[in-house]
Amino acid sequence: QSRRTRLIAGNWKMNNGIGEAAVLASRLGELVGTAPEGVEVLVCPPTIDLSVVADKIEGTDIRLGAQNCYWEKSGAYTGETAPGMIRGVGALYCIIGHSERREYFGETDADEMRKARALIDAGITPVFCCGESESVRESGSQVAFVCDQIKAGLAGIELARADQLVVAYEPIWAIGTGKTATAADAQEVCGAIRKTLAELFGEQIAEGVRVLYGGSAKPGNIAEFLAERDVDGALVGGASLVAEDFAAMVARA
Ligand code: PEP
Repeated sequence: QSRRTRLIAGNWKMNNGIGEAAVLASRLGELVGTAPEGVEVLVCPPTIDLSVVADKIEGTDIRLGAQNCYWEKSGAYTGETAPGMIRGVGALYCIIGHSERREYFGETDADEMRKARALIDAGITPVFCCGESESVRESGSQVAFVCDQIKAGLAGIELARADQLVVAYEPIWAIGTGKTATAADAQEVCGAIRKTLAELFGEQIAEGVRVLYGGSAKPGNIAEFLAERDVDGALVGGASLVAEDFAAMVARA
């Protein structure tokens, strides 16, 4: 139904040391090493695992992504990782603005904008996360809230490069809670995100940007989300840690 290539992305978060990462990546290589037509498969392990996962998925269709970056190219930024370093280990994507980064590490929309620009400069596709809290959802202002996040985090991207973005709509109340948004909830906000992208960058670019749903997505519910017009894939936390579950989600995409 959509002309956009689907994207099924696993966010391992702070799980799996190097040995476990190698095992999971190898197993994913066996299960989804050849991606179905029209589907792109992405894994985003912890930074320290990027190299080993890159080795294990070499020669497969699985793409590699990081979970975070800093926006400077190099220098005295203890503990940080530059986009160029991430690109150097073979990653083509990087998650930014995840609600856990915003909430626990105080990241702001302005930070996400700097990261998005730096990633695009380094040849990496930002996976820009947005999403409302439970109280915003209860007040009924989720669409306005998320569209403001998109404007505040992405308005500074050069028009010519905006086609390189991926957006992930992740309602915070659905992350890791087992509560999922309904497919209609996801469509409402993902559709509004695409409209906002059209206001910022024009219709043509907005039609090409992948908008993912995230929040307790699993094999049993992914098909409902993907049936919606403006949902082009999923950002998967918990279920991406079990190779068979993640593979089942790819198979249903
Ligand atoms: C996430 O945090 O990106 C996520 C979607 O987590 P989960 O699938 O575990 O809700």
